[in-house]
Amino acid sequence: MAIVSSGSGRTPKRRETVLVDPQPSTEEASVRPEDSLRPKRLEDYIGQHELKQVLGIAVQAALGRGDALDHVLLYGPPGLGKTTMALVLAEELGVHCRITSAPALERPRDIVGLLVNLQPRDLLFIDEIHRLSRVAEELLYPAMEDRRLDLTVGKGSTARTRSIDLPPFTLVGATTRAGSLSSPLRDRFGLIQRLEFYGQQDLELIVARTAALLSIGLSPEACSGIAASCRGTPRIANRLLRRVRDVATVRGGADSIDASMVAEALSLHRVDHRGLDASDRRLLTLLLEQHGGGPVGLDTLAAALGEDPVTLETVVEPFLLQQGLLVRTPRGRMVTDAARAHLEEAA
Ligand code: ADP
Repeated sequence: MAIVSSGSGRTPKRRETVLVDPQPSTEEASVRPEDSLRPKRLEDYIGQHELKQVLGIAVQAALGRGDALDHVLLYGPPGLGKTTMALVLAEELGVHCRITSAPALERPRDIVGLLVNLQPRDLLFIDEIHRLSRVAEELLYPAMEDRRLDLTVGKGSTARTRSIDLPPFTLVGATTRAGSLSSPLRDRFGLIQRLEFYGQQDLELIVARTAALLSIGLSPEACSGIAASCRGTPRIANRLLRRVRDVATVRGGADSIDASMVAEALSLHRVDHRGLDASDRRLLTLLLEQHGGGPVGLDTLAAALGEDPVTLETVVEPFLLQQGLLVRTPRGRMVTDAARAHLEEAA
C-alpha cells in the first residue's frame, strides 16, 4: 500500500501546553514519528470495538464483491485514530491511500487532480472534511454518488458541462465537528462512525505497544500512570511516553522507567494525574470563581481564556465533558461537583 500525502492544511489554534494537546505537535507533523507507530492492520488497531466490527464486515463484503468500500465518515476528537483507521482500511483492502486535508483543496483543480488520478478501489482520505469549500463539495457530490466528475468548461454563454467517469473509489472523511457537515455531504456517506475516548485498559495496551516499538523498558505502574493521564487519547499517550523517556534519560534510568519518572514528567509539564493541564484547570477555575460555576456561553468563556472558540469546543471540552467535569446546557457551560472536588484536590 502506498501513502500519498497532498497539502498540509491548517489546524485550529494550538493550546498553550502542548503535552496534552490532542493535535499533532510541530515535531510530530514534520518529523512524523507517528507514522512508524501506527498499527497497520485491523487486528493490531487497539480498542474501538464497535468501529472495528462494523468496518471489518464492510471490508470483507467489499472484498467479496470485488467492489470499492462504501464511503466512510469518521468523527470524534483529534488523536483518537481516524487517520490511522483510514490507512488500516487501505491496507486491508490492498489499495493505495491518498491523504489530504480540506483546507488544501481550495481550488477546484486541487480536488479534480486527486480524483482523476485515483486507481480503481483506491481510498481518498480527506481530513477536516467539514472545512471543504463549496466548490470542492459540489464536485464531490456526483463523484461520490455516481462516480462522475462534472466539469464546467469555458465561461459565460459559451460555458458547457463535461462529465468524466471516475473509477470506483472510497472517500474516507474525518472530522472533529460532524455537526458542521452539510447534510447533502453527510448523506452521501454509507458508513458514519464515531470514535470514542479510549478506556484505561486499551490505553495501557497502546502505551505498552509503543514502548515495545521504541525499545523503552516500562514498569506496569509507569504504563498505567501514562495511560491514566493521557485524556483517553492515543496521540497524547505516545507523546507523554516520549517526554517520560526524556526525564528517564536525564536521570540515567531510560532502561527501566518507573512511576516516579512518570510523576516527574507530568509535574514538569503541569499535567495532573487525570490528564488535565493548566488550560483545563484555568477554564474550570474561571467558571467556578468568576461565574459561580456557570452557565457561561462558549464565546464569553473563549474570550476570557484567550482561546479560539472552535478549539475550545472541539479540542478542550470533549474530554472534560466525557469525564463529567463540565456540562453543556442550553444557557452555557457549567462545572460539576466532580470538577470542584478535583480542583480542591489539585490545589
Ligand atoms: P486522528 O487522525 O484521529 O487525529 P491519528 O490516527 O493520527 O489520529 O492517531 C494518532 C496516533 O495515535 C497515531 O500515530 C497512532 O500511533 C496512535 N493510535 C491511534 N489510534 C490507535 C489505536 N487504536 N491503536 C494504537 N495506536 C493508535
